[in-house]
Amino acid sequence: MALLRKKPVIILAVFITLFQILLFYYYTLSVNQEVRAIRADLSSQASTLTSNIEERVSIVSGISSFIQTVGFDAEPAVIDRYLSTAYRSTNHLMNIVVAPGGIIKYLYPLTGNTAVYNKSLLLDPELASPGLIQETIRTRAITIDGPRTLAQGDYGLVIRQALFQGNTFLGIVSATLRVDDIISHFMSGGAQVYVTRGNDTYLFGDRPGKGGTPISLPVRLYNQDWMLHTSLSPGNKGKTLLSVFLIDLAFLSVITSVLYSLSRQKKFSRELEHTVSVRTRDLRISERLYEKLAHYDSLTEIPNRRFFMEEFDRLLRMAGPDRTFTLLFFDLNRFKEINDTLGHSAGDKVIRVLARRIHGARLPCRLFARTGGDEFVMLFEDLPRERIPEIAERLAAVAAEPLEISGTYLGLSTSIGISLYPEHSTKKEDLLKYADMAMYQAKGQNGRGYFVFNEQLHEKLQQKTMISKYLLTALRKHEFVLHYQPQVHAATGRLTGMEALVRWNHPEKGLLPPGAFISAVEEAGLMTQLTDWIIREVCRQLADWKQEGLDVPRISINISNSWFYNRNLLPALMSILEEYGLPPQVLEFEITESTALLEEHYPLLQEMRNLGIIVSVDDFGTKYSSLNYLKHFPVNKIKIDRTFITGIGNSSIDETIIKSIVFVASQLGYDLVAEGVENTEQAAFLMSLGCMNVQGYLFYRPLPAEEIRDLLMRQADGLAGRAGAL
Ligand code: C2E
Ligand code: CA
Ligand code: CA
Repeated sequence: MALLRKKPVIILAVFITLFQILLFYYYTLSVNQEVRAIRADLSSQASTLTSNIEERVSIVSGISSFIQTVGFDAEPAVIDRYLSTAYRSTNHLMNIVVAPGGIIKYLYPLTGNTAVYNKSLLLDPELASPGLIQETIRTRAITIDGPRTLAQGDYGLVIRQALFQGNTFLGIVSATLRVDDIISHFMSGGAQVYVTRGNDTYLFGDRPGKGGTPISLPVRLYNQDWMLHTSLSPGNKGKTLLSVFLIDLAFLSVITSVLYSLSRQKKFSRELEHTVSVRTRDLRISERLYEKLAHYDSLTEIPNRRFFMEEFDRLLRMAGPDRTFTLLFFDLNRFKEINDTLGHSAGDKVIRVLARRIHGARLPCRLFARTGGDEFVMLFEDLPRERIPEIAERLAAVAAEPLEISGTYLGLSTSIGISLYPEHSTKKEDLLKYADMAMYQAKGQNGRGYFVFNEQLHEKLQQKTMISKYLLTALRKHEFVLHYQPQVHAATGRLTGMEALVRWNHPEKGLLPPGAFISAVEEAGLMTQLTDWIIREVCRQLADWKQEGLDVPRISINISNSWFYNRNLLPALMSILEEYGLPPQVLEFEITESTALLEEHYPLLQEMRNLGIIVSVDDFGTKYSSLNYLKHFPVNKIKIDRTFITGIGNSSIDETIIKSIVFVASQLGYDLVAEGVENTEQAAFLMSLGCMNVQGYLFYRPLPAEEIRDLLMRQADGLAGRAGAL
């Protein structure tokens, strides 16, 4: 099989040659077989011929015996009668002759033979072939003369016998055969046969046409050496040849078509091979491309999160007992601000430049990858603990180099969280989580830039995990409670509103402030559910108090951004209000600046306001240079953040900011409330600006519902206003 694949042409040539030899062999075999059949036929013809002549010879012998018995001097009539009987006993005889002393005296039939009557066989040369009479007498054996043209004119064959008495020659007896009759008798078979004397003198028979294969058979008849000839006709040979040729043709055409289909197949498989190889190459290219896309970050061209995770996993699995890893998780501080104020392309550029710089700094890290947004990770192998500050500071310094974006220089800063293998954990998920936590810790501590994960952080994390685990149960078991912090008119102390603030009445830990669980609620995706509960609880409380005849001011509810993605939001809200028989005006929604910035919420916020719900911006001024945005916000009210209020009396910047906010808000027609008012100086400053609405410990802390009820009752009695007034 292997040889067939290597040298197909040689194999094929050998095969064809062998077949041709085989065909030739078959051809000669067929011809020989035919020749043998013809030879057999010829020999049967020969025996027919000899037996025919023998039969006539026996007539001659019979006459000889008769003459010997009766003698030549017997009654001529007796001899004549005998001759006529003998003549009639067989056919094909031309005549019977008895020649005493060689003179033809008795002749039967006389008719047609009179020409030879009384002629001497010994003297007349026309009557026999030269020397043959003498031979007949000398040999005393039967001789055959002819076929030859007889003296009578016919063509015949003469059988003679000489008769003796002792040594005395008495005469000759002969019978003449008609050669034509012999021919028609014994050569009536299919093949053309002719007879020669010796090898060449033609005697009688049909000569075949030229071109055949001659076949001859010698026949010895008394004194004659004859040859019977026939031939394998070219036609017969041709037929065999034709059949061989047809077989060969069929064979060759099969071979040709096999070769053709093989070559086509070869061509086809070559094309297929080519196509396959092209496709394979394309596939490899796209595989590599995919590999790159899958493992590399398209923006920075450094490895992505997936690559990092796979590699980190591999390194941890291969790590020997003494190996240590240091994982740095870091992001840019205030990156969101850059994105929001300068646009996403500027943000992209910052990320790109940062990645390039850090890459160029050639820190001795094993892996460096972008895990998402402005977040990066770096993994160090066997980094001595005492080198961590040096590495972290170098990283922070590289990031802090001024970066020019469309003409302005940005000062970037990073927060780096660090976790250690195996000290903190041996699992990559833990190490990443811890480094992430440490990074948030680093953000909290202004200036230092990095934080190494520690036990306290671990505990905090555990508590957070525990909290998120129990949140759902807490929701179901109604472990959340609302406290309400009144807002008052600074001059009169009259209640102008209340803010609902959630607490978790934890069965073991007691009352937990929102700071301990709000972010966990957000992360657990339960914020919408909690907000829904708060809205319903506020409505229930309002309805309760109204039922008691109390005059309740508007209650504001903190709404997180995720709640806005609640489907069917307004109809659900309206149905709750309807359920408790409340008008929409009893509610105020506090939203964050970032929510207020999202234009997608504008139609909804507008609808709420159309219904009479107040929408206010919480913690105003903390996140953005918001005065510019202020005129776009679809809100009615602004809450000046506590951080500015704290600055009253000791920060002229904060005081200026407050003044600007109050001015712009009054210009744009927004209501104002100042939160976190803790002392009279702050209250007085705000009042001097005309900002009368205040909320803070100076007036009231957030209070449980029962205390608010008392307060409302007292206010109804005209007591509360005096208590709260300055
Ligand atoms: P916030 O919306 O800014 O709420 C005001 C926070 O300031 C309250 O803290 C309140 O107790 C505190 N506060 C009020 N007056 C003063 C003061 O004169 N001095 C000082 N130092 N603090 C004052 P709380 O109740 O711990 O809430 C913290 C934050 O938790 C809230 O800040 C709000 O962002 C979030 N939060 C509270 N309740 C809810 C809620 O129902 N839903 C949502 N989404 N967030 C809530
Ligand atoms: Ca609030
Ligand atoms: Ca606030």
